Amino acid sequence: MSTAMSHGTVIVGAGQAGHTTAMQLRAAGYEAPVTVIGDEPAAPYQRPPLSKRYLLREVQPEHLALGGRARGPQIDLRTGERVARIDVDRRLVVSDAGTSFRYDHLVLATGTRARRLPEALVGGLAGVHVLRTLADADTLAGALDDAKSVLVLGGGFIGLEFAAVAARLGRRVTVVERNRVLGRVVSEQAAEHIRSVHLGNGVEFVEGRELASFDGVDGRVTAGVMTDGTRIEADLVLVGIGAEPVAELAADAGLDVDNGITVDELGRTSAPGVYAIGDCANFAWRGGRRRLESVQNAEFMAKAAAAHIAGRETPPRPAPWFWSDQYDVKLQIVGLLDESDTVVTRKAEDGNGFSLWHYRGDDLVAVEALNDPGAFLTARRLMDRGVSPAQHTVADESLGIRDIAAQALEATS
Ligand code: NAP
Repeated sequence: MSTAMSHGTVIVGAGQAGHTTAMQLRAAGYEAPVTVIGDEPAAPYQRPPLSKRYLLREVQPEHLALGGRARGPQIDLRTGERVARIDVDRRLVVSDAGTSFRYDHLVLATGTRARRLPEALVGGLAGVHVLRTLADADTLAGALDDAKSVLVLGGGFIGLEFAAVAARLGRRVTVVERNRVLGRVVSEQAAEHIRSVHLGNGVEFVEGRELASFDGVDGRVTAGVMTDGTRIEADLVLVGIGAEPVAELAADAGLDVDNGITVDELGRTSAPGVYAIGDCANFAWRGGRRRLESVQNAEFMAKAAAAHIAGRETPPRPAPWFWSDQYDVKLQIVGLLDESDTVVTRKAEDGNGFSLWHYRGDDLVAVEALNDPGAFLTARRLMDRGVSPAQHTVADESLGIRDIAAQALEATS
């Protein structure tokens, strides 16, 4: 079937989602041409270590490579090439260099870019960084070598993972967050635990207050100034205030865009033969819409789009999950917290960790595990099947978590 297609599939974006799509197409037996176009100079690499072990120099660049040798015809990987426009009527992608690529199927895996502060606030000062790409991480690693005090703006995953690295390297670190840390991604209880670990490592927090401006000397940042006038000395600032979907190409091509590129359950956009996947995709889910910034979502949507293009059955969407490593805390989350109204806490059976089981009514909607991988894996099994163990069983620590899960699975089978 696929050999009859002449132009094959063009994938825009060579991150986790784009790379995985190419691999999954070949794994599904798709034999038509596959072209992956990425604007970064590096071959596809993993981003998660960039804010963790890569900055600590425990991981070398070659260890970041996204591997996998695809069987079947070779994939045409074009790095350092930017796509300038898409013509959905003529099924054509045109690069900055003027090269045209025809396609039968087009997959937009353009990801997100780091949100930046307004230039008026930064005032062109050196020493103010973002962290998204390998190039950003390399610049930041060098800057950290020379830094004494670090201001982290934004208490999300990027901000706190970077704060943990900087503290471990002995820098003075202050995290400034206008609401509460990890407000978008974890519960208050989990955030409280993570905050206390940071405090124990000497990190200071300024929460619920806004940064007004920066001070600088000779064009280099020297401090952040809060709206109440407080100065926070810093010769390095990391701005970790979120990410924005890269959707301009899609919007310019006339595709529906609203907080990301609008797609259905299969990743199909409003244009025929065009898919959008990963961080940049706003997908239909449970009667509503979602955009998820995670490795798992990138890989799942890549797999689903590849299966659909190759004419295979598409896999069901698993429960979303995320993780973060800070110091010796491994935080793992399955499900989405914004739906919860009750929480049940459990100690880990094999160590010092614990898990937080979040319910909406009787339905389990999310589980946060802090150094409790057993709870996380069990929760994933349950949530992938839409099974909710009764709250009183989860609260009963005389019962093992696997037994609770087995009972709940049996009761619904
Ligand atoms: P994030 O999780 O959205 O967190 C951004 C934080 O910055 C939020 O707490 C936000 O608070 C705050 N903020 C936004 N604008 C601000 C401003 N002007 N001043 C002060 N605070 C502000 O995003 P992120 O941590 O920057 O991460 C960026 C991307 O990297 C995401 O895709 C993320 O998923 C990914 N990432 C993931 C991991 C992981 O999963 N372990 C690790 C690193 C990076 P408000 O709620 O007030 O807006």
